[in-house]
Amino acid sequence: MAAIESSAMKLENETAELELIAKAFQAIAKEISYGGLADALLKTALRHSGAVRGAVLLSEGGELLAKADATFPREKAKVFASQPSVREFQLPDDLSERVFMRQETVVRDDSRKGAALIDRAECPTGPNVTVLCQPLIHQGQTVGALYLESEAAPALFTPRCLSVMSMLASQAAVSFESAQLFEALRETNMWMVRGQQIGRMGSYRWNTRTLLSRASRECYRIFDIGLDINPVPFETFRACVHPDDLPDLEKALAGAVSAKSPFSHEYRVVHRDGTILHVVAVGQFDLSPAGDVELEGIITDVTEQKVSEQAVADARAALARAARLASLGELAGSIIHEVNQPLTAIRASADACLRWLAREPADTDEARRSALRVVEQSRRATNVVGGLRSLVRDSHLRFADVHVNETIEEVLVLLKRELELAGVALKTAFDETLPPIEADRVQLQQVVLNLVRNAVEAMASVDGVRALSISSRVADGHVSVSIADTGVGVDPASAEHLFAALYTTKGEGLGLGLSICRKIVVAHGGRLWAEKNTTHGATFTFTLPARQFRRLSGSN
Ligand code: ADP
Repeated sequence: MAAIESSAMKLENETAELELIAKAFQAIAKEISYGGLADALLKTALRHSGAVRGAVLLSEGGELLAKADATFPREKAKVFASQPSVREFQLPDDLSERVFMRQETVVRDDSRKGAALIDRAECPTGPNVTVLCQPLIHQGQTVGALYLESEAAPALFTPRCLSVMSMLASQAAVSFESAQLFEALRETNMWMVRGQQIGRMGSYRWNTRTLLSRASRECYRIFDIGLDINPVPFETFRACVHPDDLPDLEKALAGAVSAKSPFSHEYRVVHRDGTILHVVAVGQFDLSPAGDVELEGIITDVTEQKVSEQAVADARAALARAARLASLGELAGSIIHEVNQPLTAIRASADACLRWLAREPADTDEARRSALRVVEQSRRATNVVGGLRSLVRDSHLRFADVHVNETIEEVLVLLKRELELAGVALKTAFDETLPPIEADRVQLQQVVLNLVRNAVEAMASVDGVRALSISSRVADGHVSVSIADTGVGVDPASAEHLFAALYTTKGEGLGLGLSICRKIVVAHGGRLWAEKNTTHGATFTFTLPARQFRRLSGSN
C-alpha cells in the first residue's frame, strides 16, 4: 500500500516537473533577442538545478565558438547573462577546451578560488564549489555554454538534473539560431528601408483581381497614406493621384494589364497638405501564389529632379528672351544710327528749301538744290534700310542637311515641361519617309518653337481640352509641317494680319514672332500660313522644298 502511494507521489512529482520543463521550453522558444534568450535560459537553469550562481556565454556575431584549430580565441564567447552580474568572465582554459572544443558536459569540484563567479578579492573561505558547464550545441556546432556554480555537495547535479539541463541547452541552441536569423533579417530589412528612403523609391505589389496593394514604407511616404492602411485599396491610391493625371494613368494601367506588358508611367501625387510630388512608376506582371495576376514594381519620387529640370528650363527661356531682346536692341540701335544721319540731313535740307522759297522773291535755284539734297539723302536712307533687311534675311542662314522630324523632336524636348505645366496633351504624327532637306536647323527650330509657344498661349484661356497636334508629311517635292491647336482660333478674314510685324493681341506680346517665322520660311523657299480649324483652334502650316526639289530647281 505504501509502495503504491509512494509511486503515485513520484508520478505526480514527475508530471509537475515535466510541466515546469515544458513552460521553461516555451519561455526560451519565444525569445528572439540574444539577451532575452540568455536571461530566460539562465533563470530556468538556476531554478531547476538549485545552483546559486551562473552565466550564459554566447558568441556575439554568431561565429562558432569551437574549431579544430586550437588557436581559436575563446574570447569570442561573451557573457550575455549572469548572476551575480559580471561584465566579463572567461572559462578556465581546460574547461573551455573540454566544453567548447570537445563538446563535453563537465561537472567538477572546484576550489572557491577557482570558481569564476566568486569575487576573488573577497573570496570567502568554506566548502568547495561544484561547477556544471554544459555546451550549447546546434547542428554539431558549439554556439555557447551554460555555466553554473553550486554551493551544495556535487550530488546536486544529479543525472536527472543533467538530462534536464541538456534538454534546456539544446532548446536554447535552436532558439539562439532563430534569434540570429531574426537579427540578420531585421538588419537586411533595415538596410532595404534606408536604401529606399535614400533613393526616394518604394516597392509595391498590386493584385489586379482584388485591387489591393501591398507597399513598402517609402511608398506610404510618397503617397502620404497612413501606415495603418494595409493593404491599400485602389480607391485610396486613386485619391492620391493628381486629378488631371488620373485619366492617362488609368488608361496606361488598363493597357498594361490587358497586354501583360511592362508598365511605366509618370504622374503627379497630391498630399493632404496640397504638396505635389512627381513620381515615376514602373512594374511588370507576375502571378501570386494564389494564381492572381499581380503588378510588381517600383515608384520613384522624382520631384527634386523635376524642380532642377524646371530651373534649367526657366534659365534657358530667360536666356533666349534676353538674347532675343538683345538682338532686337542691337538691330534697333543700328537702324537708329544708320538712318538718323540721312534723316537729319533731310530735315535740314527741307528747312533750307522752305527758307529759299519764303524769300521775296523766292530763290528757286537754291530751293531746287535743297530739294535735290532731300531726294539724295532719302535714297541713302532707303539703301541703309535695304541693307539692314538683307542682313536680317540672308546673313544668318547656314544651310546643312536637316532631318525635319528630329529637329521638331529636339524642340519638343525643350518644351516638354512647358507643355506639362500648361496642361497641354501632345500628339505627333511624323511621316517617317521624310527626306532630309537643306535648311538652317537653328532657324527652323526657331520657327517651330514660336509656333508651338503661340499655340500654347492660344489655348491658355480655353476651358476644354488643350490638344496640340504636330504632323509632318511630304508631297509635291515639299516637306510640310502642321501645328494644330484647340485654342481661340483665327479669323479667316484677318489671318494674314497676324504675319505683319508688330501685330499682337497679347498684353506683353512683341508681335514679331510670326513675321520672323514667315521671313525664315520664305528665305528657305517655302510658305507659312494660318487656317481656322473646322472644330476648335487654328492650324499653322509651313512647307519647305525637299532637297531633291532644290537640286532640280538649282540645275534648271
Ligand atoms: P506675339 O506672340 O508676340 O503676339 P506673334 O507674331 O507670334 O506675336 O503673333 C501675333 C498674333 O497672332 C498673336 O498676338 C495672336 O493674336 C495671333 N496668333 C498667333 N498664333 C496663334 C494661334 N495659334 N491661335 C490664335 N491666334 C494666334
